Amino acid sequence: MIKEIKVKTALSPSQLPGLDHALNPYRGCAHACIYCYAPSVIHWDKGKWGELVEVKINLPRILSKELRAKKKGVVGLGTVTDPYQPAEKKYELTRRCLELLLMHDLPVCIQTKSSLVLRDIDLLKGFSNIEVGITLTALDNRVREKMEPGASSVDERLRALAELRTNGIKTWVFLGPIIPHITDVDALLDAIAEVKPDYVLVERLRLKEGVWESVSGFIQDFKPELVNEYERIFQGCGEYYGEVFEKVISICEKKGLKCEINRLGV
Ligand code: SF4
Repeated sequence: MIKEIKVKTALSPSQLPGLDHALNPYRGCAHACIYCYAPSVIHWDKGKWGELVEVKINLPRILSKELRAKKKGVVGLGTVTDPYQPAEKKYELTRRCLELLLMHDLPVCIQTKSSLVLRDIDLLKGFSNIEVGITLTALDNRVREKMEPGASSVDERLRALAELRTNGIKTWVFLGPIIPHITDVDALLDAIAEVKPDYVLVERLRLKEGVWESVSGFIQDFKPELVNEYERIFQGCGEYYGEVFEKVISICEKKGLKCEINRLGV
């Protein structure tokens, strides 16, 4: 369900590394990823995550005013929502925000799971400093359908990375969250190496409020034989992720991929 809303502010301060401001054209996200922790960050209390998306219809007007006040710094586009989720096809809020950001040529960092980002290549090419991150959590599209039901297929995302690069846009892959024994790290890094991103950012699964219930429900349905192993991993002291991260670093070194492990938080 879509609901149009009006907001009073556009840019908000960001605590994320490398970002000064967060800009989120939507509240809620139809990609409905099972591991999403945005609901706890924005205190979502409007039902099941993914079923309702609030569209900030006046966002470009508010952003325009804020930019005239000479805001500076890196803008993270899509920190608690996906800026290219299905509603963007109709509303084009992300595109209109990009047009405004381009007028001021602010540095922008986009993160998405949608190949719809390719629609805006004409704008992206105009920025002096912009990068697009595309998230990948598994190479097997049947797994992707269960974990990220509303997002683009794995192939579409890989093609988007290749096309962005061909157009001279800096790209990165968010390899995460790594879902134990589900994320096929070797195969995924093989595929990632072929599209040559500028870097890969790797992250573990973070069990913020509601995430454990959602992920353990998925494991019970999809791979019940892993239920005990999950309890062991997530009640343990992080040895599992320590080993996986070492493996990722080693594969990336062999493939010439620049890689960074995000070890912040839990
Ligand atoms: S795309 Fe991002 S914001 Fe949307 S549901 Fe998935 S993790 Fe959450």
